[in-house]
Amino acid sequence: PLDAPTLEISGLDAGYGTVPVLHDVAITVERGSVVTLIGANGAGKSTLIKVIGGLIQSTAGSVSFNGADCTRSRPDQMVRAGLGIVPEGRRLFGEMTLRENLELGAYARTDRQQVAKDFDRVLELFPELRDRLSTHAKSFSGGQQQMVAIARALMGAPKLLLLDEPTIGLAPVVVDRVAALIQEISEFGVDILLIEQNAEVALTIADFGYVLENGRVVMADNAKALLVNPEVRLAYLGV
Ligand code: ATP
Repeated sequence: PLDAPTLEISGLDAGYGTVPVLHDVAITVERGSVVTLIGANGAGKSTLIKVIGGLIQSTAGSVSFNGADCTRSRPDQMVRAGLGIVPEGRRLFGEMTLRENLELGAYARTDRQQVAKDFDRVLELFPELRDRLSTHAKSFSGGQQQMVAIARALMGAPKLLLLDEPTIGLAPVVVDRVAALIQEISEFGVDILLIEQNAEVALTIADFGYVLENGRVVMADNAKALLVNPEVRLAYLGV
């Protein structure tokens, strides 16, 4: 259904073998929104991404994507259903050129004409990459590599883009550029789930935010409300 949230997770438990990590997690990404999940090291953010991506199976609860149940979906099914993941650390193919990385992003698609259009459109979003299609991915700066990773994910024509700590290790001016890009991408109709340790940036660009602690969602509110919440400020903004 068209009015279903883009992503709806409820009652989710997950972990590794007998080690539980996520407990009763509920997260919704409404259509047309940027949602952020903030949390400290080890809170369970990466585990949640693995569950959404179909890389590990939950032990309880459900995941629904665009109104369809995908609790047991495999990674390739999630990609085909419209999930784009920008993994932490970018995971680019360093020996491949920018063009090859972007082409790989579209590997699951059969609509070649639309792929060609998206190729041009994605490059319009990233003027800093436009003239460097033949450059090997490993030769780009950290910020540019992050942009290549985002551009590659966009080549899969996702409905939801899941970003795992896209600003980590970047200089402040580059962080601002990535933040602006995320907002621009959202205006193009791609919904965003932004996983971040940088709460300040994440809550500034998001519509709604969740705080994950020890595998549990302990706060859920409008991002602007979380940004001024004294507990959040103390724990995640260092003020
Ligand atoms: P970070 O920001 O460091 O990536 P995170 O919030 O993403 O942290 P997770 O990586 O999801 O946190 O880890 C949550 C918990 O799960 C931690 O206690 C971690 O030790 C544990 N964990 C992570 N990966 C595994 C694994 N492969 N096997 C067993 N336990 C794991």
